[in-house]
Amino acid sequence: MSEYSRGMLEFATVAATRRSAAERAALMSDPGFGRVFTDHMVTVRYADTKGWYDAKLEPFGPLALSPATAALHYGQEIFEGLKVYAQPGGGVAFFRPDANARRLNVTAERLAMPRLPEELFLRSLRVLVEADRDWVPTSEGQSLYLRPFMIATDPFLGVRPSSEYLYAVIASPAGAYFAGGAKPVTMWVSQEYSRAAPGGTGAVKTAANYAASLRAQAQAQEAGCDQVVFLDSVERRYIEEAGSNNLFFVYDGELVTPPLNGSILPGVTRDSVLRLAAHLGYTVTERPYSLDEWRDDARSGRLKETFASGTGVVISSIGTARTADGEFAIAGAVEGPFTAKIRDTLVGIQRGTEEDPFGWRLPL
Ligand SMILES: *Cc1c(COP(=O)(O)O)cnc(C)c1O
Repeated sequence: MSEYSRGMLEFATVAATRRSAAERAALMSDPGFGRVFTDHMVTVRYADTKGWYDAKLEPFGPLALSPATAALHYGQEIFEGLKVYAQPGGGVAFFRPDANARRLNVTAERLAMPRLPEELFLRSLRVLVEADRDWVPTSEGQSLYLRPFMIATDPFLGVRPSSEYLYAVIASPAGAYFAGGAKPVTMWVSQEYSRAAPGGTGAVKTAANYAASLRAQAQAQEAGCDQVVFLDSVERRYIEEAGSNNLFFVYDGELVTPPLNGSILPGVTRDSVLRLAAHLGYTVTERPYSLDEWRDDARSGRLKETFASGTGVVISSIGTARTADGEFAIAGAVEGPFTAKIRDTLVGIQRGTEEDPFGWRLPL
C-alpha cells in the first residue's frame, strides 16, 4: 500500500455539538435538496510529498482557505454524489458506492488530481454515516445524500496541477429532487449552448461542467421548464443528457439511450437502469438519438415514454420537451408503465423492500 499508510483508515475525531432530536426532526421534516447538513464532515489532506494524511471526522463548518487557493481560480475541483437509505428493520445501506469510488478516480485522473484509494473513499463514507446515523431519514422518498469532493489547495496563481489537495465528505438529508414529486417534468432543449465537447470533461464529474451549464439552465427556467437537455456540440443534432441526468427513450420492448461517447457522464443510475431493463426482458440499445427522432416518434406515437435518471431524482418521467421553435408531448405527458416499473424496482432495491439480484446494496 504505497499511496497511504494503513493508519489512514483511522480517522481522528473532533466530535461536534450535536443538534437536539427536536431540532433535527424540524430540519428533516421537509429537507428539500442540499439545504440541510448533518453535524459532522470528513476531511483528508494530500500532498505530493506525503500522499494522503490527516484524516479527520470533525464538526461540519467553514473551511479556512487562502484566497489564492488554486481551486477558486482555475476550477480544479471534482465531486461525487450518492445516497444512503434506511432499511426495513432499522439498518442503513449505501447504493453501489464502489461505482462512485471508481468514477471519482476516473475524474481525478482527467483533472490531473491524485487517486483516492477506493478503500479510503468507502471508509470516509462509513465514518461520516456512523457518526450522523440519526440524520438518515426514514420517511418515504427521503434519504441521506453524500457529497464527497476534492479541491486543489495550493495557494498559488500559476496554472498547473496543484501539489496539495483537500478531500472532504458532507452529508445532507434529501427529499424529492424535483418539486412536485413524480409528476412528469418539462425539458428545455438548448440549441444555443453546449455542455461538453469531444476531448473535454463532459464524461467526468467536475465543477466546470456545471458552471458552463448554468446559463442554459436559467433559460430553461425562464421558458417554464424544469431542466435543460443538451445536444452534441459537433452536429447539434443528437441528444446527450440533461443538466445532471441521463436520458432514456422507451419503445415497444426496447430501451434506447445515447452511448457513452466521451461527453456524457456515465451515471451509476444509468448503468443500473440498463441492467434492470435487460433483466426485465427489454432490448437495450445504446446509439446516437437525434432531436428530430425524439420529436417525430413522440408525434407519431411510436415513442412510448421518456425518462431521466440520476442519484438525485432516481427516475423522473419526462412529459414534454420544449425548444425555441415549439414543443411536443410524449404519450400525453403522463408517466408510462415502464418508467414506473423501473423506478419502483430501483427504489425498492435501494430501500431494501425488493430483492437485490445484482448485489447493489452495501449495508453500513
Ligand atoms: C452525476 C451526473 C449524472 C447522474 O449520475 P448518477 O451516478 O446516476 O447520479 C448525470 N449527468 C451528469 C452531468 C452528472 O453530473
